[in-house]
Amino acid sequence: MSNTKNILMLPGDGIGPEVMAEVKKVIDWSNDKRDTGFEIEEDLVGGACYDAHGCAVTDDTMVKAKSADAILLGAVGGPKWDNVAREHRPEAGLLRLRKELDLFANLRPALVFDALIDASTLKPDVVRGLDIMIVRELTAGVYFGEPRGEETRDGVDYGLDTQIYSEPEIDRVARVAFDLAKKRNNKVTSVEKANVMESGVFWRKIVSKVHDADYADVELGHMYADNCAMQLVRWPAQFDVIVTDNLFGDLLSDCAAMLTGSLGMLPSASLGTKDPVTGVIPAMYEPVHGSAPDIAGEGKANPLATLLSHSMMLRYSFDMAQDADMLDQAVQNVLERGLRTADIMSDGMTQVTTSGMGDALIEELGKLS
Ligand code: NAD
Repeated sequence: MSNTKNILMLPGDGIGPEVMAEVKKVIDWSNDKRDTGFEIEEDLVGGACYDAHGCAVTDDTMVKAKSADAILLGAVGGPKWDNVAREHRPEAGLLRLRKELDLFANLRPALVFDALIDASTLKPDVVRGLDIMIVRELTAGVYFGEPRGEETRDGVDYGLDTQIYSEPEIDRVARVAFDLAKKRNNKVTSVEKANVMESGVFWRKIVSKVHDADYADVELGHMYADNCAMQLVRWPAQFDVIVTDNLFGDLLSDCAAMLTGSLGMLPSASLGTKDPVTGVIPAMYEPVHGSAPDIAGEGKANPLATLLSHSMMLRYSFDMAQDADMLDQAVQNVLERGLRTADIMSDGMTQVTTSGMGDALIEELGKLS
């Protein structure tokens, strides 16, 4: 039986190609040493695609994205494309991928590596061992709800957005959170503002319904979003999986991310609905950071966020938990050896380049395999 896994790699702009080159090294290593059967097809997205084709992602690339087993994306954007028409801006490529693949669940882990504990602005005792997974609903809610825009009522001008969720939209993201919790510490905190928002009351009702029907063995708690923001900085270790809507998830995932110290360390995954015939879950894995034009081409970019995104791909798209654990451990080991890219550099550590970090990681993988 073939074990071929088709990956569409979209390095994008700025530091995207630099950090993706390190992922390629790891994939080549695992194909060679562990017979993992990854086949990479590379393509353009963002500003790089605009320069070549006049749009942020081509129809041809969308066809490849829809048939790939998983997508790995670097980053898009940069000042070069600031004056391009909105529909062709680099970010439009990302939005099209998310929308057409219906990637409704955005997974953002906030994990503190012991070696980087001092990079957090919080006290070591508060963040030690921190391991939270935030599941943000990504394709509905107030960022998409209608009506939206400006209108005049009784001679007064208004700006408005609409927070609206259907039962299926809440149901499917709740299931992602409960399934994840089962593989972690079996606890979900559902976050809304049921105290002041009708959509929050509804969110809580549907999450509870899904829980009681199919996940009664998972511990479920409910929390108001403002309290959750406070608890994230007061006592983050109380959380395992947090599930929340698009708007609150946007804010809370950034807040949780910063508990860990550096943008260069943060991976993410966006998942869609499993195809009932092929069993494939559409999925795109990407670092949280952008294209960092200020350091692009200088060998200063930290590739670990993208490598950890690859680890999420192994875990969630291919059920390769052992390989994912090994990669996570290799990241931990290079940090414990004192190797640091410029963004996480501190006294007494050894500064390495983007490719230096990738090479050290391969070395650690070699020791672990
Ligand atoms: P950014 O994340 O690119 O950079 C913010 C700061 O963090 C910069 O100082 C940068 O040098 C640093 N940084 C980011 N990633 C790093 C890494 N891996 N290693 C070391 N340092 C790193 O955010 P920005 O400056 O606000 O945006 C730059 C461009 O990226 C913009 O065009 C923006 O629209 C785009 N952007 C894209 C995405 C994406 O592709 N998903 C996300 C955010 C921003």
